[in-house]
Amino acid sequence: RADVLTIGEAMVTVRCAGPLRLGGDSRVSTAGAEANVAIALSRLGHTARWTGALGDDEPGELVLRTLRAEGVLTDHVVRRTEAPTGLLLRDVAAGGRARVHYYRRDSAASTLSWDEVRPAVEAGQTGLHLTGITPALGPAPLEAVAAAAEHAREAGAWVSLDVNHRSLLWSREAAVRALRPLLPYVTVLIASDDELDLVADGDGERDRVAALLDAGVEEVVVKRGAAGASYHDARASFDVPARRVPVVDVVGAGDAFTAGYLSGRLDGLDAYGRLDRATLLGAASVACAGDWEGLPTRAELPALALPDGETLR
Ligand code: ATP
Repeated sequence: RADVLTIGEAMVTVRCAGPLRLGGDSRVSTAGAEANVAIALSRLGHTARWTGALGDDEPGELVLRTLRAEGVLTDHVVRRTEAPTGLLLRDVAAGGRARVHYYRRDSAASTLSWDEVRPAVEAGQTGLHLTGITPALGPAPLEAVAAAAEHAREAGAWVSLDVNHRSLLWSREAAVRALRPLLPYVTVLIASDDELDLVADGDGERDRVAALLDAGVEEVVVKRGAAGASYHDARASFDVPARRVPVVDVVGAGDAFTAGYLSGRLDGLDAYGRLDRATLLGAASVACAGDWEGLPTRAELPALALPDGETLR
C-alpha cells in the first residue's frame, strides 16, 4: 500500500545550455510532473508509487533507474516494445527564454489504458495524485485517469489534481471538456491563477474558487509563481508569499510545491503548515538546477526553513 499513487508520463529530458540549433553541451535527466511529485514525496519519507507506460528502451531504463534510486515504487509500470519512451528537449531561445520541444506523440504513455493502470490503483493508497497532463496524452489515458479517480475515491482515498495546463499538448477547450468531469472525484485542486477558468466558471478568482468548493472540492490551492500562493476551503482563505531565493531554474517549482502540500497533508498538518511546506519545496526547486534533483530529504527540511540566505556551517 502506498501513501500516494501517481499516474503519468515520465520522459527523458535533454537540456541544452543555449539554442539547440547551435549544438554543444547538454545534460540528460528525467522529467514528468507526476514522477517529480513521486520523487519529492519519497525524499520526504512517504511511500510513493508511480505508474505509467515506458518503452522497452534506454530512456525507459533511465526513468526506471532514477525512480528506483529515489525509492519510488515502480512495481506496476508497463513496458512496451512497440512504442518508445517520450523525449523532451529543453533549450534556451533568443532573449534567454526557456523553451521545450516534445517528442511524445505516439509514445508508450500515449496509449496508457485503465486496464493497465487498474492493478496499481487496486494495490491501495491513501491519496491518488493526478495532473491535467496525463488526460491530454490521448483518449485512453483520459479514460484511465477518470476511472482511477473514481475507483480511488470509492476505496476511501483522497484525490488531488494539479491542472498543469500544457498548451503544446491540447487546447484550452479540450482541457475544459476533459477536466471538469473529474471534479466530482477531486478532493484537492491545485492550479495556477491563469488555469482556474479551465475548471470553473465565474467572474474572477473568488467566484471560481466558490464554484469549485460548491462542486465538492474540499481544498483549492492557487499558485502564483514568485508572488506566492493562496489557499481556500469552506472555512478559510489566505495568501502566503513565496520565499526569496536565487532563481536558478523555475521549471519543476509547481511539482515540488504540490508535493510539499501533499506531504503536509499526509503528516496531518493544518492548512498553514501545508502551505508552508509547499512554499519551502517550491523555493528549493527554483534555487537548484533540474526539476527534482535539488529537492530536500526529510532530514534536510528544517534547514530549508532557516531565514533566507543563512549559511549552514
Ligand atoms: P511549473 O509548471 O513551471 O513547475 P507552476 O506554474 O506550476 O510551475 P509556480 O506558480 O511557478 O508553479 O510555482 C509554484 C510555487 O513555487 C509558488 O507558489 C512559490 O511558492 C514557489 N515559487 C515559484 N517561483 C518562485 C520563485 N521565483 N521564488 C521563490 N519561490 C517560487
